[in-house]
Amino acid sequence: MTHFDGTKVILDASEYPTHWYNIQADMKTLPPPPISAATGKPAKPEELAKIFPMALLQQEMTQERWIEIPEAVQEFYRLWRPSPLFRARRLEQLLDTPAEIWYKYEGVSPAGSHKLNTAIAQAYYNKEEGIENLVTETGAGQWGTALSIAAAFLGMKCTVYMVKISYNQKPYRRLLMESYGATVYASPTARTAAGRAILAEDPDSPGSLGIAISEAVEEALNRDDTNYALGSVLNHVLLHQTVIGLEAKKQLAAVDRYPDVVLASCGGGSNFGGIAFPFVQDILSGKAQPRVLAIEPEACPTLTQGAFAFDFGDTVGMTPIMQMYTLGHSYVPASIHAGGLRYHGDSPLVSQLYHDQVIGARAYGQTQVFQAALQFAKTEGILPAPESAHAIRGAIDEALAAREAGDRRIILFNLSGHGHFDLAAYDDYLTGRMKDVAFDPSWTEESLKQLPKVER
Ligand SMILES: *Cc1c(COP(=O)(O)O)cnc(C)c1O
Repeated sequence: MTHFDGTKVILDASEYPTHWYNIQADMKTLPPPPISAATGKPAKPEELAKIFPMALLQQEMTQERWIEIPEAVQEFYRLWRPSPLFRARRLEQLLDTPAEIWYKYEGVSPAGSHKLNTAIAQAYYNKEEGIENLVTETGAGQWGTALSIAAAFLGMKCTVYMVKISYNQKPYRRLLMESYGATVYASPTARTAAGRAILAEDPDSPGSLGIAISEAVEEALNRDDTNYALGSVLNHVLLHQTVIGLEAKKQLAAVDRYPDVVLASCGGGSNFGGIAFPFVQDILSGKAQPRVLAIEPEACPTLTQGAFAFDFGDTVGMTPIMQMYTLGHSYVPASIHAGGLRYHGDSPLVSQLYHDQVIGARAYGQTQVFQAALQFAKTEGILPAPESAHAIRGAIDEALAAREAGDRRIILFNLSGHGHFDLAAYDDYLTGRMKDVAFDPSWTEESLKQLPKVER
């Protein structure tokens, strides 16, 4: 029996999701297919099949509503899923709000974040197609950690190009990946042509996510036993993350609740899509009208200040071109502590839904985000990842607005991960060194001029 003990909802095994939800089945307007950077025409499946398994490419494009979760992936999920749905009673009391605050906690995964939900699925499909080595990039290290664990589970090799500055600043993240058996390189390296070109110009280059992506993709292109894996943005990644929202829906239904507002942090859009899409389905089918909000940093306000345009997924301009909200691929977001939210673009699915005004977005500065994070830690006990704390800020503001308005709105948010590897950020906040970085629209003037031209 599914039951509620007053603090958390536990799902009965018979209620575990057996399928992922594909929102493409219900969207009125679908994002256009990705355009090849090389030809300027829609990317051919053969081009993409050099670095992705066919099963994932099919998931990228299918409009089938429900995709079965392979039994082997369901078995791995049982290690930490279903994740708990908590009622934040102490936080409600602190805020003196008539609202109810519920949160789904993804930090219970061995990786400490939601990213393992897709890492294990991606590793599984690659292994099925005979791939032995997965290669990827990582900035802050959350994605690299998740993929390292997934590769270890499936007996695969994992190579991670870690942005050099993070490699040097976050030795514990690197050691965690290495403990799971991954090989981690400080990017740029001399192993790839892309890396050698950067090093020839600047031997002391601190690296960037864009450079690391180029190195990882190059390695995957050059080796038959090797594929590339991406931790966010793409349709199949958001698809795998819908287990979060599917579970949350059942958990809330078990206590006769339905959210008035659903919130999640949004970098590339995967934890947001994960919790939100099963509720967006109700909006699209006319069944319910929850407000659904993506929360982003003021320093990198892709949805709230970006352009809806065709752009590259990486900085260098190697990946297919997708229609999305973007600050321009050459835009370098200011350095803030929520590294996972420092991305110039956004998921094409999330972008289209925002463009069609099905979902909304809000941006916050980092000091107000960390203030919310500590209110949450002191009442609910979990020290959140800086990324996740954006959703907490949004939820607290909803609860305060409910107090003003005197309504009992039901708030659901996704707590995408814990912050145990982000203590340096908390140190900055606690010692008063943290600064807000307000976005200046003139910063994107140049980068928005460099959007690729696409004929439609
Ligand atoms: C990577 C990450 C994010 C941002 O990525 P999305 O794809 O937008 O979810 C948010 N929270 C945590 C904990 C992350 O690791």
